[in-house]
Amino acid sequence: MKKYHGAFIKNEREIGCLREADRMVANILDAVGDIVRPGLKTREINELALDMCSDYKVKPAFLGYNGFPFAVCTSVNEVVVHGFPSETELKEGDIVSVDMGVEFQGFVGDAARTYPVGTVSDEARELMRVTEESLYVGIDQARVGNDVYSIGAAIQAYVEKRGFGVVRKFVGHGVGSRMHEKPEVPNFKPAVTGLTLQSGMVIAIEPMVTQGSYEVEILDDGWTAVTADGLLAAHFEHSIAITPHGPRILSISDRGLPERFASYA
Ligand code: MG
Repeated sequence: MKKYHGAFIKNEREIGCLREADRMVANILDAVGDIVRPGLKTREINELALDMCSDYKVKPAFLGYNGFPFAVCTSVNEVVVHGFPSETELKEGDIVSVDMGVEFQGFVGDAARTYPVGTVSDEARELMRVTEESLYVGIDQARVGNDVYSIGAAIQAYVEKRGFGVVRKFVGHGVGSRMHEKPEVPNFKPAVTGLTLQSGMVIAIEPMVTQGSYEVEILDDGWTAVTADGLLAAHFEHSIAITPHGPRILSISDRGLPERFASYA
């Protein structure tokens, strides 16, 4: 595979495989949205994802990745990312972020969404809205010739203007035959310049946005990342191919993008 400063340049066939992997991930995330309700155990989200992976005959990409013990991350309320599915039941008013990856013909799809559980507070709804919108604001910058850091600069400006925080500890990434490839795609603006985006790069953009401070802590299980101040966090992620015609979102389900983002399809 061709490389540009350490970032793989994918050909059309490879992007086709990534698109298929991401389509499956997005379909799984749609199905998760259909079952999220008060009383659901986060373990049941993991089981749904495993069942759909076996129907699709694909491998869940997170299971065993650096020792991660589940097929999905389920991150409730103050959990930012990497939460473990468990027997804990979702409650009315919770928000739950689900991050999911599959490997199809050697290529990894990766996407995430945050869902409301029943009726949530206005603050929680606003946090989710701004996080999802910031993802598309970032996607808008994913263009040939742009500095990869312009993505995070746009996300950060959008989020902070609305009074929320952007997590620094975790970032987006190149994605291809491995889940995490170069370049890093921060959701904030680093002080230096980054890689210039080239046609054929595929990146996962994934703003993690907090209600309060952007500082996070890792729990004793070595994975679960929570906000240091205990306030809510949300997480949305798409995998994007950089093309001469602009950003191409790969993680679109068979139902399509949400109505208000349909112009990005
Ligand atoms: Mg990712």
